[in-house]
Amino acid sequence: MNNTIKQLVGKLGPDVILTGADISGKYHADSSGETARPPVAVARPASTAQVSDILRICSAANQKVVVQGGLTGLCGGATPQEEEVALSLERLSGIEELDQASMTMTVLAGTPLQAIQDAADAAGFLFPLDLGARGSCNIGGNISTNAGGNEVIRFGMTRNLILGLEVVLADGTVINSLNKMLKNNAGYDLKHLFIGTEGTLGVVTRAVLRLFAKPEGRSTALVALDSFEDVVRFLHFMSREFSGSLSSFEVMWDSYYDYIIEHVPTVSSPFDERYPIYVLTEISDKSGNHILEDALAGELEQDRILDAVICKSEREREAIWAIRDGVGEAMAVIMDNANFDVSVPINAMADFLNQLESEIKALLPDTALLVFGHIGDSNLHLVFTVDRKEDKKTIYDVVYRQVGAYNGSISAEHGIGMMKRPYLHQSRSREELALMKVLKQAMDPNNILNPGRVLG
Ligand SMILES: Cc1cc2nc3c(=O)[nH]c(=O)nc-3n(C[C@H](O)[C@H](O)[C@H](O)COP(=O)(O)OP(=O)(O)OC[C@H]3O[C@@H](n4cnc5c(N)ncnc54)[C@H](O)[C@@H]3O)c2cc1C
Repeated sequence: MNNTIKQLVGKLGPDVILTGADISGKYHADSSGETARPPVAVARPASTAQVSDILRICSAANQKVVVQGGLTGLCGGATPQEEEVALSLERLSGIEELDQASMTMTVLAGTPLQAIQDAADAAGFLFPLDLGARGSCNIGGNISTNAGGNEVIRFGMTRNLILGLEVVLADGTVINSLNKMLKNNAGYDLKHLFIGTEGTLGVVTRAVLRLFAKPEGRSTALVALDSFEDVVRFLHFMSREFSGSLSSFEVMWDSYYDYIIEHVPTVSSPFDERYPIYVLTEISDKSGNHILEDALAGELEQDRILDAVICKSEREREAIWAIRDGVGEAMAVIMDNANFDVSVPINAMADFLNQLESEIKALLPDTALLVFGHIGDSNLHLVFTVDRKEDKKTIYDVVYRQVGAYNGSISAEHGIGMMKRPYLHQSRSREELALMKVLKQAMDPNNILNPGRVLG
């Protein structure tokens, strides 16, 4: 045990600082599973003061620290690198206040997203951040990755849902910025330094979240279409028709849809036929299914869509969403895969996918590409099946180069972490990268906090 770890144990006790055999495998990697290794110690603070003590000691000793939330991240950001202490927020968990008048909730960073959704729901409100990892991810992780998810088209990314933060800086300084007001232009809005910066500039310990009125009704449909051009037209139609209440617009190409239907035993297609492309769309509106039914009937009559089913019960809705969320189970079936979460401007998406598919086919003819995404947010998820591990690098190089060529983003939602760092220049200019480094240097001069994540 090195001196810094001894000092940490001395100050905080063996209950907070785990070492040796007490460190279980769950702290070895995030959900990417890449480069798993045990940290030199795991710190599990139960208060902001303890987070501050830990960072003060580590900073003074130049001890590197990796911050861990729910470990559902997909790009290696929370995975320990050599000789790092893992700072887990798992015990800093709980809802501190639900302020009905201000429509806010104040929570500790380690609170699971689902617990927040449930508490908001029980009080008659909606906290609209929602993603497949809801049961395991923590709000601190969501904030640090500026998580997206299923309702971005209506409510925006996590950034739009945060009013205030409490953060501990690398040297242990506590910044209390627990603002509850929507309007506050008193100087720099410091919370944005910590939202989406993946734990490189500070550790989030508390947050004030925005709550919304709970929608009184919801209608969900699965729609089959002929082409991507039809999907874009249908998106504009839905946005016009249901402005303000369109809450989901998920697109699944036939490659993805057919794969999920064939390989995930718990899902089935509600259609008798297969089609080129599908949209799962949802509106939050109290008028019931009939306005969606009327709108889709009009589209069918004019041959702008090929087929549609509207869910008549929560069970039917869950069955439709299971097709969209089936990717988790499909990944377990695909022996190995290279997966991407990229953004490309909607007007360039069709060209981008054609270009990508033909380039990869020429290099790796046996590789299949499954495509789905939140198209209203310009976000595409790509999953390539990979036969040989060494082909992954070829796929990464081609995809990120093409994303750069189409002025897209190499990370729409999941962040950069360790795994995408070598490609960040495809989406960010030299000047932007230089400014990011200035911020990092100013706020963490010893580079102890999540070193090597996002920036080299
Ligand atoms: C099945 C599945 C579905 C997913 N769907 C989506 C989706 O739809 N949209 C989406 O955006 N993401 C999605 N993700 C990715 C992941 O769930 C999100 O990135 C999530 O926000 C990570 O939260 P976490 O608590 O697990 O963070 P972790 O994985 O523990 O950490 C993620 C990053 O944040 C840092 N961090 C964690 N907590 C803090 C803190 N308190 N202070 C400072 N830094 C911190 C870590 O160091 C790391 O760099 C999905 C993942 C899975 C496994």
